[in-house]
Parts: sequence; structure tokens; C-alpha cells
Amino acid sequence: MFDAHCHPGLDSDLSIVCTASPEEWDDVRHYRYHSFGLLHPAKEDVERMEKTLKDDPDAFSGEFGLDSRWQTDSGLVKDLIVLSSQLKRPFTLHVVHRHDEMLRILRQVRPQVSFIVHSFTQSAQLAREYIRLGGLISLSPLSLKTRDSAELLKLPFLLETDMKISEQSLNTLALLYRDAAHRCDIETEQLEEMIDERRAVLTT
Ligand SMILES: [Zn+2]
Repeated sequence: MFDAHCHPGLDSDLSIVCTASPEEWDDVRHYRYHSFGLLHPAKEDVERMEKTLKDDPDAFSGEFGLDSRWQTDSGLVKDLIVLSSQLKRPFTLHVVHRHDEMLRILRQVRPQVSFIVHSFTQSAQLAREYIRLGGLISLSPLSLKTRDSAELLKLPFLLETDMKISEQSLNTLALLYRDAAHRCDIETEQLEEMIDERRAVLTT
């Protein structure tokens, strides 16, 4: 079972292991799918990110994004998306209550690489906007509790725990797959295959 967004802990080849700041980057280099993130970017961090990504051709980028709970210069987020697109690195977006701004940036940049909008809890209509721009939505246990979850489950979603990889996160992931498969009226194994196909644009 593939976890589309989690944080460093136990080893795993079936997870996109994300970070939020340069201090964490060294903790994830050994994972097969590791991702260098900047949730609170400063200008000099963007340059550091560029160098770090160029030095590591296998790395993904993210998580970064816009969150109404803190100030982020949307110009730097745009720079990070441009950088990820130029270097052809799949990237992971963290967006809380600032989806209009994020969609505006994505429409300007038109990224040439796939990206994930992680722990998506908004409407199916908004999800379709991201998908139209080349994104994938990733659903967490929280996402499945939202009002629009039935509609979201009809879209080509990924699944994630957003936890540190641990026995507990693996249990959470298994329950999440079971719950989502049940609600899609398919077998868990079938959902696993579908998600493996969907994630191929990122991981092959
Ligand atoms: Zn996260």
C-alpha cells in the first residue's frame, strides 16, 4: 500500500517521505521517494533548494504552499513551483484556505510535471481544478470525514497518512485503504492497483 504523503520514521519504499524545512532534509535522503520541503521559505532557502535538488536527481520537492495560519510570500511559492517544473521534479503542495491564490499561481506557471495537493479536504469542484492543471489530490483520514468525501472518492485520488512512518501509521494506512475501497464498492487490492497506476506518473 502506497502512502502518498508521510514524514520520516521507519524505512519504507512505498511512501513519499516529505519534509518541511532544510533541517530535515538529511533525514530523508535514504528513502526511495524523498522530498525536500520548505513550509516557511525565505529567499535564500529557495537557492539552497535549487542546489540541493540539482545535487540529488532522484529527489522530489515539497511540501511547500500557502496556509492561512501563517504568512508566506506567495512569490517564493511561485519560485518553488517554477523550479520544480524546470527540474522536472514532482512536488507536493500544502494548501489551507488559500486555494484561490494557489490556483492563480498554478495557472500562471502551468507546471510541466505532476504534483500532489496533500490532505485535500475541500470540494470536488476545487479538486477538479487542480486535476485539470496536472495535479493529483491525496486524501487523508481527515479528507474522508468531509462533506464532499463521496464526490472526492469518485476522482483519481491518492491516499496518505501525513504521519511519521511507524507501526501506527501503517495501521492507519491499511484502515484508510479499506475504508476508501469499501466506500468505492471495490476490493482493497483493486484500489491498491488503481493507486499504483495513478502514482506511476510521479514515481517512475
Ligand atoms: Zn505533511
